Amino acid sequence: MQFFWQPYLPYNAVSCRYSEIGTKGRNRRFFVERLTTALHRRLAKWFGNPRFVLEEGRIFMMPEGRDAVLTPEQLSALRAEMPGLPGIASVSPGFLLEPELPALETCILETFPKVYEAFVANFPAAERTYSMRVNRSVKTFPMRSAELERHFAEKLLPGCGLTLDLRNANLCIEVDIRAKRAFVDFERIEGPGGLPTGSAGGVLALLSGGFDSPVACYEMMRRGCNVDFITFHSSPYTPPAAITKVCGIVRKLNEFQKRGRFVAVNLLPVQKAIRDACEDRHRTVLYRRCMTRLATVVARHFEDQALVTGDNLGQVASQTLANLDVISRATPMLILRPLLTYDKLDIMRSAERIGTAELSLEKVPDSCTVFAPQNPATNAHLDAILADEAKLNLQELLRECLRNTVIMNALNYNEHPFVELLEQELPL
Ligand code: ATP
Ligand code: MG
Repeated sequence: MQFFWQPYLPYNAVSCRYSEIGTKGRNRRFFVERLTTALHRRLAKWFGNPRFVLEEGRIFMMPEGRDAVLTPEQLSALRAEMPGLPGIASVSPGFLLEPELPALETCILETFPKVYEAFVANFPAAERTYSMRVNRSVKTFPMRSAELERHFAEKLLPGCGLTLDLRNANLCIEVDIRAKRAFVDFERIEGPGGLPTGSAGGVLALLSGGFDSPVACYEMMRRGCNVDFITFHSSPYTPPAAITKVCGIVRKLNEFQKRGRFVAVNLLPVQKAIRDACEDRHRTVLYRRCMTRLATVVARHFEDQALVTGDNLGQVASQTLANLDVISRATPMLILRPLLTYDKLDIMRSAERIGTAELSLEKVPDSCTVFAPQNPATNAHLDAILADEAKLNLQELLRECLRNTVIMNALNYNEHPFVELLEQELPL
């Protein structure tokens, strides 16, 4: 968590910086537009219809209305929401000005005393470190960055008792001079980096109520994907809360992207058949292969290009290399496992940061625990699994599951069947 101590100032704009997008050459405009859309969507609740101005390397956002300034609520929203928004390197609330020295001087000299006063109130003398950064993207501006830094430092800082620290300063004074505008700020809100959602295509995530799969979804969004969701339950062996819990997680994840579609499938017919006909030890892998097949049908229908899971190598019995291999072979579709090598602690930290941890915490029986074997195989052999599957009327079982598949509205829990459409996608 960043510590925000800055005083309220009548800022007239927000400067949004992106890093990776900047390397995209000719596609850059496309990525910047996606990021602008994402900003608009994420902040609409507080900003309504802000004005966006694109300058090389920056998106400037101005609050609605002539000469409007940012409200304290808008500032809090920026601090709360921007650390999670994929594609954002950092944002700063600040002053957007003409790129001329007199305008810059007036602005800085007027505002710095208020910032300094709050700084001194919040930091003991030993921690009063500062950095002064001037970034000049146009070389036509009459003074160089270093000269400007010295110029402002000489005007502002004598007698302030500040220590220079270019890496970890507690007070940052930033002046950004672009071709048509300049920007002055005293605060940087760090974003998660990555790419804006909607810039890399669609994927379908297998979302359970656990801690891992929501983080996997977020990681895909951070690489630009738009994520649709599918969850499996075993009603009536699992309670309705198994679905409503996942609805809550979907709502949370949708805050980061254009709303993804959400499908709930009852896996029980498959689970019962597997319980009755197949080796106990194989159940988990067999369930997973069926989930994967059903997810493939839905993904094709949605025109998503890959499946996503929260698998983490070695975490549980189904997540050994051998088992992941056998599960992957149930589909011709690409399966992405963004958390495969993560440390569990990092996953938990990430879940807390994106806000899904507290939702995952709720104890609800999961579909996987229904008829779970005592000793699941950790080293399933494809031949043995195929032999077990040959005992089932798999296509008919999958059809039966699809017949009970519904599209969920995660906001009001309404469901709509869409079986006819899905059956067209079978057999795999
Ligand atoms: P998670 O915390 O995401 O539940 P996990 O550590 O519990 O993961 P498993 O239960 O083996 O691990 O599940 C591995 C992956 O399979 C999950 O991350 C998820 O992508 C998918 N999965 C498991 N159960 C379900 C379910 N009921 N509905 C949808 N996907 C599921
Ligand atoms: Mg799980």
